[in-house]
Amino acid sequence: MKTDSLTSNSSIGLKGLDLAETEAWAQSQGLPAYRGRQIRRWIFTKGAHSFEQMTDLPKTLRQTLAKSVTLNHLETVDILKSRDGTKKFIFRLHDGLLIESVLIPERDHLTLCISSQVGCAIGCRFCLTGARGLKRNLSTAEIVDQVVQVRSTLPEPEHLKNIVLMGMGEPLANYHNVIKALGNLTREDGMNFSNRRVTLSTSGLVPEMEKLGQDITVNLAVSLNATDDKTRSFLMPINDRYPIAALIQACKAFPLPNRRMITFEYILIKGINDSLEDAQRLVKLLKGLRAKVNLIPFNPHPGVDFRPSPMERILQFQEVLTGDYLTAIIRKSKGPDIMAACGQLGGSSNRGIQ
Ligand code: SAH
Ligand code: SF4
Repeated sequence: MKTDSLTSNSSIGLKGLDLAETEAWAQSQGLPAYRGRQIRRWIFTKGAHSFEQMTDLPKTLRQTLAKSVTLNHLETVDILKSRDGTKKFIFRLHDGLLIESVLIPERDHLTLCISSQVGCAIGCRFCLTGARGLKRNLSTAEIVDQVVQVRSTLPEPEHLKNIVLMGMGEPLANYHNVIKALGNLTREDGMNFSNRRVTLSTSGLVPEMEKLGQDITVNLAVSLNATDDKTRSFLMPINDRYPIAALIQACKAFPLPNRRMITFEYILIKGINDSLEDAQRLVKLLKGLRAKVNLIPFNPHPGVDFRPSPMERILQFQEVLTGDYLTAIIRKSKGPDIMAACGQLGGSSNRGIQ
């Protein structure tokens, strides 16, 4: 069993196991394999927080399991509410580190943005998470538990429809744990989210993008943010390793199920990447790809003196794209007043929350 399935005190973390591993674990406890599936239903579908709640398990068994198995991996430290209805959940991990997940109300459903790492090593110049460096990868259980815990706070859990891996961290830099978490989120024996409703966002780790396409079906979002290598390398140092041409090539090779598109995220930063020539180059770069573009006005935060592009420029930029039949949506980030917007996560550890 891999260490990511274990918590600090070496008890088993069931949310980090897949079905086969859960069944094997059940058998190792002298139980029939079907108990594994039964327990998964309790934790993933019914959101049980304790074995006590698993009323179809014999009482003595529940007591034994409670001693050797960890069900919860996150302690809720705070839930901040934005004026626009967005909520930021601050969770403490077993080693005291903090992570954040953001629940975003949409017109008729909820979207949850989850973290994959504590911090991030990629170091994008515009991103607060990146400015603090990488502390560690999240385990599979810690990734999945963000969804379980947030959903358990909802009066109507079925309203949570979309999961996006766009919180703290670079998901493809934590490949093994993220893939396993995606399995537990989307499989019928897990949380059963539709894979059409789960999106992984990457800064463009080309080899892992290739593997991802082979290993699992989820939606792909790529943080592009510039249209020439000089600007992209300035903004996102990962571009030195995987320049734009290699990234676009990997997107072209990415296996897309029918009618799905790759989302390209493009932060608009005043005077850096927001010229109309940039917009034209973007159209050219995405030619031949099933692509849509999310235009994100830069969210300011302390530590970088970039400014968002003015709305007038954002609209002009959008017009160039849509004029060439490219779908381009302006995504005003939610929750800026609680530092919950894109690129603003990871500040809790600095706000004296311990
Ligand atoms: N590491 C992954 C996923 C997390 S970042 C990635 O980079 O894709 C999620 C998104 O937030 C990315 O699209 C990134 O470009 C965007 N982002 C980061 N900092 C931002 C900021 N200050 N303003 C607006 N968007 C930002
Ligand atoms: Fe990491 Fe994504 Fe932030 Fe870049 S934008 S530093 S890859 S979290």
